[in-house]
Amino acid sequence: MFIELTDILRCPADHEEGVLVLLPDGVTDRQVRSGHLGCMDCGLVYPILEGVAEFEAAPIEAARSVRLTGVAMVAFLGLGGPGGYVALVGGAAEDWTGFAEASDGVHVLALNPPPGVPSGRGVSMARGAGVPVKSRHLRGVVLGPGYADAPAWIAEAVRTLLPGQRVVGEGETPSVPELEVLASADGVWVARAIRA
Ligand SMILES: [Zn+2]
Repeated sequence: MFIELTDILRCPADHEEGVLVLLPDGVTDRQVRSGHLGCMDCGLVYPILEGVAEFEAAPIEAARSVRLTGVAMVAFLGLGGPGGYVALVGGAAEDWTGFAEASDGVHVLALNPPPGVPSGRGVSMARGAGVPVKSRHLRGVVLGPGYADAPAWIAEAVRTLLPGQRVVGEGETPSVPELEVLASADGVWVARAIRA
């Protein structure tokens, strides 16, 4: 897990979004290999094991995706400039390396990735029952198969996106007031998050 990612993380417990404190044990090249994330509000402590921030068990098994290649995800999200963070969830996290190559220094949070996805520079890995990120901090969210059909995960994407940014999903095209669907083809949809 990339040290600076701590700034945008939140405790997933049901309380106001507060500060998580990073307590690193092993750090290599700004990547935390082991340590803990502690919540200042509720006192819960989450381990970082082999570089993965372990908030909660993944609620949905990551199904592999053939359509969500890194290049496609960068194009669908419409990322115009460098920097910031995106979340790739489930099977969407498999080609994070392709995403990193095609984007301009956008850091990837690979959430609940399929087994065997390699770590590396430009990615932070985490497991959780939701998106463990503060509201309005992400430049894009891509929901892999299974996650894209789950209303709770669409709500998490809408919550964590910066205003006007996009969510991409592989699954049935959602029809919810929080999303303006921009395009939909071959089982992949692209939508803009709308907030009341
Ligand atoms: Zn907490």
